[in-house]
Amino acid sequence: MTMHFAGASASEAIVYPSRLEQFVAETVFDRPTLVIDVDRVEQQYHALKAGLGRADIHYAVKANPARDIIARLVALGSHFDAASRAEIELCLSQGAKPEHISFGNTIKKPSDIAFAWNAGIGIFAADAEEELEKIAEHAPGAQVYIRLIVEVSEADWPLTRKFGCDRDTAIRLLGYAKELGLDPIGFSFHVGSQTRQASMWGPALDGLAAIWHAAKAEGHALRVLNIGGGFPAFYDEEIEAPTAYAAGVMDMVNARFGDVETIMAEPGRGMVAEAGVIVSEVMLVSRKSERDLHRWVYLDIGRFSGLAETEGEAIRYRFETAKDADPMGPCIMAGPSCDSADVLYEKRPMPLPLTLKSGDRVLIRNTGAYTSTYSSVCFNGFPPLDVVTI
Ligand SMILES: *Cc1c(COP(=O)(O)O)cnc(C)c1O
Repeated sequence: MTMHFAGASASEAIVYPSRLEQFVAETVFDRPTLVIDVDRVEQQYHALKAGLGRADIHYAVKANPARDIIARLVALGSHFDAASRAEIELCLSQGAKPEHISFGNTIKKPSDIAFAWNAGIGIFAADAEEELEKIAEHAPGAQVYIRLIVEVSEADWPLTRKFGCDRDTAIRLLGYAKELGLDPIGFSFHVGSQTRQASMWGPALDGLAAIWHAAKAEGHALRVLNIGGGFPAFYDEEIEAPTAYAAGVMDMVNARFGDVETIMAEPGRGMVAEAGVIVSEVMLVSRKSERDLHRWVYLDIGRFSGLAETEGEAIRYRFETAKDADPMGPCIMAGPSCDSADVLYEKRPMPLPLTLKSGDRVLIRNTGAYTSTYSSVCFNGFPPLDVVTI
C-alpha cells in the first residue's frame, strides 16, 4: 500500500513508504513507539544533497541519534554536527571520520573539547571570549567559526537569543581567536528550525553578508560559511519539497557568497522528520461538564514523552486514525502525565473523529525529528518513547 498526501507540493506529493505502512499495520506495540524507515532518511539525504549542491551536509545529530540513521548517513558520505562528547562518540562508533565531525555547540565542557581534539576533531563553534579561551587551551590551533545571532526569524521553532553574538562582538572574536593561536575560518548562524519557505532566509542572509564583508574589510581571511539548519518537515502547513527548498536557499547563498570556499549546511529536522511515525493510543476521551464545547482526548504520549515541540502549540502534528472517514469534531489533546503543562493542543483544538475512544490507535505523522530525544526517562512511570528502525 502506498499512500499519497497532497500538501508538500503538487508535483512532489509526500509518499509514505509502503515498508513503513506495512510494518506499522502488522505490529502490535505495547507502548508509544517511533518507527523510522532508514531508507526514507537516505531518500531525504539525496533530495537535500541535490538541492544543496556544493554545500557539505553536516547532519545535526540531536534531531535523531538512532544508530541506524547515523550508520546509514556515514555510508552515504554525510558529515555530522555534534553537540557533546556523547554525540561525537556515537558518530565515531558508527564509522564517521573525525575530520567529518564538527563540534557545533557554542557551550562546551572543557573536558569534551579535549576529548574531541584528541579524537581528531578540528572544527569548533564559539560565540564568546570564554569559549574561545577554553578551545585555545584544550584544542590549541583548532579551526573555529563564530556563531552570529539571527535577529529576524520566521521559523515555527526559532533558535534566537540563546545562541550567537552580534556583529561587533563577532568581528572582535575573530581577532581574539587569532591572538589565542586559533584559526578563525568563518561564521555560522541558524535561521530557526522549521523555516517553512526558502524565501524566509533572505533577511538573515542579507544581515550575514553585511557582517561578512565588514570582517573581510578588517583583514580577516574568512573561508567557511555554515548556514546551519532550518530545513522544514511537512506537518500541517504546506512546505516546498526538499530539493526545491534547498536549491532556493543555495541560490540565495551563492548570490551573496559565491566566492566563499566552503559552505556547510546542518539539516536536522529536514533530514529525518518525514522518515518517522509515532504509533500511540487513546487512553481516555471525556468531557468535563455537559456544557463542555470540546472533548478532551488523552493519548499515551505527551509533552514529556516525545511531543515537547507542542510547547506553545508551535509544531502542529498530523494525527491519523482508522476512523478518519467518520464525522470529525474539535478536541483538546493532552498527554498522560499528572502535570497540567502536559496539554498538547488547546488554543487551537484538533479535529478528531467523534467515534474515537479509549484503546484506538493514533498515528502521529512525520515525527522522526525532535521526539525521541525530547522524551523524559520515565516521568510519572510512563515509558519513554521507544524507537524502532526498519
Ligand atoms: C539544532 C541545530 C541544527 C539543526 O536544525 P534543524 O532546524 O533541525 O535543521 C543545526 N545546527 C545547529 C548548530 C543546531 O543547534
